[in-house]
Amino acid sequence: MPDVRRSDHFINGAPRKGASGERHSRHSPAHGGLLAEFAAGDARDVNEAVLAARTAFNAGWSATSGEQRATVLNAFAALIDANADRLAAIEAEEVGKPVRFARFEIGASAQLARYAAALAWQLSGQSFNNLGEDKLGLVTREPCGVVGLITPWNFPLLTLFQKLPYALAAGCTVVLKPSELTSGTALEVAALAVEAGLPAGVFNVVTGTGEAVGNALVTHKDVDMISFTGSTRVGKQIAREAAGTMKRVALELGGKAANIVFADADFEAAIDGVLFGFILNQGQECVAGARLLLEASIAPRFLEELKQRTGRLKIGLPLDQSVDVSSLIHEAHLESVLGHVASAQREGAEVVVGGKRLGDEFASGFFMAPTIVTGVSPDMRLFREEVFGPVLSVTTFDSVEEAVALANDTDYGLANGVWTMDINKALTIARRLRSGTVFVNTYLETAPQLPFGGYKQSGQGRENGLEGLLEFTEIKSTVVKLGPREAIFGHTAAAHQVELETSQPSPLP
Ligand code: NAD
Repeated sequence: MPDVRRSDHFINGAPRKGASGERHSRHSPAHGGLLAEFAAGDARDVNEAVLAARTAFNAGWSATSGEQRATVLNAFAALIDANADRLAAIEAEEVGKPVRFARFEIGASAQLARYAAALAWQLSGQSFNNLGEDKLGLVTREPCGVVGLITPWNFPLLTLFQKLPYALAAGCTVVLKPSELTSGTALEVAALAVEAGLPAGVFNVVTGTGEAVGNALVTHKDVDMISFTGSTRVGKQIAREAAGTMKRVALELGGKAANIVFADADFEAAIDGVLFGFILNQGQECVAGARLLLEASIAPRFLEELKQRTGRLKIGLPLDQSVDVSSLIHEAHLESVLGHVASAQREGAEVVVGGKRLGDEFASGFFMAPTIVTGVSPDMRLFREEVFGPVLSVTTFDSVEEAVALANDTDYGLANGVWTMDINKALTIARRLRSGTVFVNTYLETAPQLPFGGYKQSGQGRENGLEGLLEFTEIKSTVVKLGPREAIFGHTAAAHQVELETSQPSPLP
């Protein structure tokens, strides 16, 4: 087992001891071993980090050129690539995810940093040369200031890199609060950022809980914006708290995506995509394809094959390169996922594979058998609530209308998938789905250029793409008068002066 990592916060370019001196322990969710001890931050640490970020903002990061920001971001991406194996091992152990998927996440994070670097060159505004002969209008984008980032435990580095490089490319400075369960890679990359040339104080990390650190960041007067990824429940709370200082809030929240499979789909591709969609990261994913909507005519054959493949998935410890599925994040979460399955059974649904906690060799971790539940109807909790586990709920349909209505019958709107070889049908349905992303004949496949975010209660704002950069900017309009300005009150300054000199002083009252 690797050495236990004992870490401090990362403030003003270096590790910084927490004010309380307390630490939280992180044990492996898969084998129980002690992995790390993170500083248990509080409002005092947040104050220090915000001061460092504000100082760095004023000291010049906000005024650097796009080229300078891009140079640092590209060097940052290269260092992440160079350290990918170590970062992936930390991520895999802390989250309990198979290391090959963690490795992919690290590579994708570096790719996002390179994309944001390119955008840094390109950040521009507008000019209006059509305001009449005597006026010019400039619309400029400015960095919005000190940004607080709050991230979840399921994809600690990827969710961070959907924010951090864009904020830096825009010229903002950052205070990050990572999840208290999975803070390891955030602290590692903060040190790499400094090595890449990022000035001290531009990127700070304060570890600790949401209540102690997250809330202090959200309510801090000198934080201009919060960009949050996490549950819809906490997102709503953050929006309410942030209103106190009227800071801007970007929210990436929960989801309840549907994979709609039609009888005319490529059968093999759909089986693989549906499986990947609900199994990746043990289903602990905001865009997990948690609901399978299956055209009734192919349901028996499709489900039989899906059951077989699900049963063949390799379950094991996070650092085993050959593993497909590993452990859930903690015991209470495992209990909650099992509770959703049990509730569906009580409501009349049927568990056709899995549905239980794994014991024996997995007894020291929070492992759950990949699970398929059939006969799920829209009134069941399993259909409506985000479960965030390796559980697929299956509902059948008979028509396009019914499929679209079922997919949209949710409070969430992050993503959906459509599987059909009929491109007209696919695109018509894609238009009608109320979600920020639609996958057609694939699942969980995207690119940095494509904005990501939610309709409805899945959030507000967008990450990635050009929109991901613009989120971290303020817009300023500058009106320039060309030539002499005509007085509004009918006086020129000179005429007004003459008038004053010649007029009699009015008697005092
Ligand atoms: P969570 O909402 O419990 O916590 C997210 C972060 O917020 C953590 O760092 C936590 O410490 C912090 N936090 C908790 N209470 C807070 C408070 N009162 N004030 C400030 N910060 C607080 O979510 P989680 O359990 O870490 O992650 C799972 C959730 O994240 C799921 O709902 C999932 O759908 C969502 N998620 C969304 C996306 C997306 O891009 N839309 C991506 C990944 C995860």
